[in-house]
Amino acid sequence: MSRMDDTEESDNLGGVKHVILILSGKGGVGKSTVTTQLALALNSAGKKVGILDVDLCGPSIPKMLNVESKDVHQCSQGWVPVYADQAQQLAVMSIGFLLSSRDDAVVWRGPKKNAMIKQFLSDVYWQELDYLLIDNPPGTSDEHISTVENLKKYKPDGAVLVTTPQAVAVADVRREITFCRKTGIRILGVVENMSGFVCPHCTACSNLFSKGGGEQLAQQCNVPYLGSIPLDPQLTKSLEEGENFMNSFQTSGTRQAVMGIAEMI
Ligand code: ADP
Repeated sequence: MSRMDDTEESDNLGGVKHVILILSGKGGVGKSTVTTQLALALNSAGKKVGILDVDLCGPSIPKMLNVESKDVHQCSQGWVPVYADQAQQLAVMSIGFLLSSRDDAVVWRGPKKNAMIKQFLSDVYWQELDYLLIDNPPGTSDEHISTVENLKKYKPDGAVLVTTPQAVAVADVRREITFCRKTGIRILGVVENMSGFVCPHCTACSNLFSKGGGEQLAQQCNVPYLGSIPLDPQLTKSLEEGENFMNSFQTSGTRQAVMGIAEMI
């Protein structure tokens, strides 16, 4: 079924069943990590997933999925995304694939960023997808407004808001909640990342930062709480090496936590 209004012409998002934005108030809280792990979790539940990385100035998805060296190609329907797996169940599009070197910096003003996002949302040939996860930069800037405006004619399911437990990060997520409410994006819920630290020696979990800030925020703002993901050195290593954490650590508590969140979105 097409996600578009009947009056609109069909385009490349027509075969996408669910569109979900991943947002955070601050950088470094694990938004791209949550995006990749949710995608892998949905994949392992048999879903076909796409990730659109609109973090134009800091694209980290290609590295996290070990597809940094791959290129996007053109076909008559548009850009063919990069597939992160052999079965072609995890498609990725990122500005990282379009830069001539991984050290290139994107130094663009708003209009150029807006044009790029518009093109990303119309020209990527995703084919049929169960989920498209859109990884946004932190904050509420040009990229966010552009993404939301260009998605208007579709029916995005909503946004997952990522925070760490500390008060400073939680305060920034409040602004994301306001942004979603002002722009009419449904809030699917809050994820508290880096919630406790999993000791690599004894696997016990201790609260390195405070705990529960995300859950409290969700309660106060009357939005769903989706769950917490611990700070897990094995996950860090997997991300650094572009390894599929969801496949490699089948019995880990961190994996169970991500799978639980994926079931709720
Ligand atoms: P953001 O997208 O919010 O800027 P990232 O997803 O890039 O943040 O995460 C920042 C760093 O923290 C990355 O190096 C990532 O490997 C690490 N990281 C994020 N979440 C976790 C976690 N739950 N456990 C271990 N490392 C994590």
